[in-house]
Amino acid sequence: MSILTRHILEDGRREYILKSPVDLSSAGSFIATTKKEIVEAVDRGRLAQKKWSILSYKERAAYMHSMIDEIIKNQDEIMEVVMKETGKPKTEALSMEVYAAVDSLSFYAKRAEKLLKPKRIKLHGVMNLLKKAMVLHKPLGVIGIITPWNGPFILALNPAVQALLAGNAVIIKPSEVTPFSSKLVEKLFLQSGLPDNLVQVLVGDGQTGEDLVQSSVDKISFTGSVATGKKVAMSCSEKLVPFTLELGGNDAMIVCDDADIDKAASGALIGSCMNAGQYCCGTERIYVTEGNYDEFIKKLSHKASLLIQNGKENADVGSIVWDKQLMIIEEHVQLAIDAGAILHTGGKRNTSLPGLYFEPTVLSNVDHSMKIMNEETFGPIACVQKVIDEEEALMLANDSSYGLNGNIWTENREKGIRLANKLNTGAVSINDMAMSYGVNEVPFGGIKNSGFGLVNGVEGLKGYCHPMPIITERFSKGPVSEYPYSEKTVKDMQGAIKLFWGSKLIRKIFG
Ligand code: NAD
Repeated sequence: MSILTRHILEDGRREYILKSPVDLSSAGSFIATTKKEIVEAVDRGRLAQKKWSILSYKERAAYMHSMIDEIIKNQDEIMEVVMKETGKPKTEALSMEVYAAVDSLSFYAKRAEKLLKPKRIKLHGVMNLLKKAMVLHKPLGVIGIITPWNGPFILALNPAVQALLAGNAVIIKPSEVTPFSSKLVEKLFLQSGLPDNLVQVLVGDGQTGEDLVQSSVDKISFTGSVATGKKVAMSCSEKLVPFTLELGGNDAMIVCDDADIDKAASGALIGSCMNAGQYCCGTERIYVTEGNYDEFIKKLSHKASLLIQNGKENADVGSIVWDKQLMIIEEHVQLAIDAGAILHTGGKRNTSLPGLYFEPTVLSNVDHSMKIMNEETFGPIACVQKVIDEEEALMLANDSSYGLNGNIWTENREKGIRLANKLNTGAVSINDMAMSYGVNEVPFGGIKNSGFGLVNGVEGLKGYCHPMPIITERFSKGPVSEYPYSEKTVKDMQGAIKLFWGSKLIRKIFG
């Protein structure tokens, strides 16, 4: 049984029929956008972008504020569609998709002008006497945004907001299992008064994503798995189109000797089970020093056994979005148990519910020979490994092909920061689960297999622009150097080198 069924229509187009992971009821159907339709959409986006790019930052920000009003007005519809498509509990549909969306819109709308307006750059040394410089942030054009299914509204909206404020048009290609949540981004932008064709959502499958990459878009912002990210990187590189990749993770949590064990157990549980574990920065590996190990497992297992998974809006842990993912979770858990992991709670599908549910699970006695510790499981599973000390925890945390996020639990802030600095990962939280995607001020990006480039924050916003320096005259008029070259040219230059860099004091002043 799959929640996604494909039919090839007579004209060769691909039709998909979807079921809800909540109860396997019908969730609608769609036809994948064709290559020709993608080309036409990019053309329409390019025309719309030309007019959009001449608006002031304030005018663009005003549209974002209208979108905030529209989202707040339509929050029930957003939650309803997201819950049906993903099986998220209501609290998560609200916090991850609605709350995060209005926060992103408001944050970037307020700051885009300050961060992107033309900036005068003070030059150094001799050049300061000769020239003046400014940097403009020019929009790139039409941005292709390809998204996964675990945050179908926010992961489409957040990059779109940044790209739009920078003066671009966007084309979003959502996951084939969550097309309707992402379609709402387009619908609500239109309802909020945004000009046509600035935000277009083209539903489809992997082929549609590949066709979008192959079209004439000016940048690809990709969020998804490592395997697909590599394919996108190859295609973009071939075409010399810039791209960012936000990929999978296998985040580590380190519980130090001096951690507050109750707080750490709560953090481990939410880190592992939020969004039913389908969170790129979910806590997938937990290392606990031996003095705390037994107490930690006891508390974690107890807290996990209290979680509500009832297939209803008020649940703590919702469904797995896709049966494909459920099979991976089942395989990782079973292999771990077969290899000696101890199961404390959960461990299997929740067959009391009609949809795709896996019970919140706690495993201990795991190690790095197991798939569950090496690969992304993306399920509501807390895997705990005993370590001798924090050094061993660090060594194991870094023993991963991923590097997205991590978290460290200690009552000593300085120690936490020292250990964080030694983690080979994109970002770290201390005494909390991974937070950085939700903190708009900071850049977000994985290292190793977890990604390429940055999204969010100043770095992310500027990533949707080309920073274009314009150099103008200052005291010198006309070209700085002129033909013909002569002995005098060489002597003058040598004199300047000696004058400006010949002494440490002058270097300190002009360098
Ligand atoms: P996926 O890679 O299978 O699909 C992602 C998107 O790419 C979908 O829209 C899909 O249709 C499209 N696609 C598939 N093949 C393509 C191709 N050849 N060219 C272009 N597009 C193509 O990923 P998924 O299963 O939808 O999402 C889960 C993954 O996303 C997990 O690994 C998760 O960790 C990751 N993720 C990462 C972040 C992050 O910010 N780092 C955030 C959320 C999810």
